[in-house]
Amino acid sequence: MKKKVRNNVRFSVLASGSTGNACYVETDSSRLLVDVGLSGKKIESLFKKINRDPKFLDGILVTHEHSDHIKGLGILSRRFKLPIYANEKTWLAMENQIGKIPTDLKFHFECDRVQTFGDLDVESFGVSHDAASPQFYVFHHGEKKLTLATDMGYVSDRIKGTVKDSDMIIFESNHDIDMLMMGKYPWNIKRRILGDQGHVSNEDAGEALAEIIGDKTRRIYLAHLSKDNNMKDLARMSVQQTLEKRGFEFGEKFALYDTDAEVPTDLTTV
Ligand SMILES: [Zn+2]
Ligand SMILES: [Zn+2]
Repeated sequence: MKKKVRNNVRFSVLASGSTGNACYVETDSSRLLVDVGLSGKKIESLFKKINRDPKFLDGILVTHEHSDHIKGLGILSRRFKLPIYANEKTWLAMENQIGKIPTDLKFHFECDRVQTFGDLDVESFGVSHDAASPQFYVFHHGEKKLTLATDMGYVSDRIKGTVKDSDMIIFESNHDIDMLMMGKYPWNIKRRILGDQGHVSNEDAGEALAEIIGDKTRRIYLAHLSKDNNMKDLARMSVQQTLEKRGFEFGEKFALYDTDAEVPTDLTTV
């Protein structure tokens, strides 16, 4: 008899937003963290809230060198001797921000590659964003596919193809365009956020997700919300409306979820 592969991948968005990002993914045999955009102390307290301990991590994957993604990276890595994985350009760009990392904890994970961590295959893909070489990740475990994609100026067809029909997607819904335009940010910052190397608006998130969602997709987490130019309800309503207009029906089997800057999402099986 053929042995059945047990699908068992779980995740928690520990923190998400312009104030700091971190996402935890585990199977029965692998444990990974993507980004450490909060202080070491804060990250440890978030791990406690989901009943996990950072000392058991197999590694930390880095998306890009902006401080909301690497603030506590060096501290956490040194404290628990955790390997860090980032592409070459990101290493160069972040090295002077994270303190000294011992050579045996430094690993390369280039763009458009797949690396295997135990029973998790992790695929990296590049995004358009104003960092040295930003990349995000798709996690494959058996039949299950879990995607993390934020910090994108626009969602290219290539990205849509890579992340298509994930069981679970954590996707950027950064700002409401009207709130941003009427808000207090100086014009050059507004232009940066709206530009091709900035962030995805609620409006664009809905449009992109309409092309990304497939038959397998069950849960979408709206992530990296701007503290000043967005609200959870507004993001959810906006994305939901766009998707409903495209014929998607929300219900028990398919739903949108919030993420929070301070409160981790429940550790959830994909
Ligand atoms: Zn960024
Ligand atoms: Zn960011």
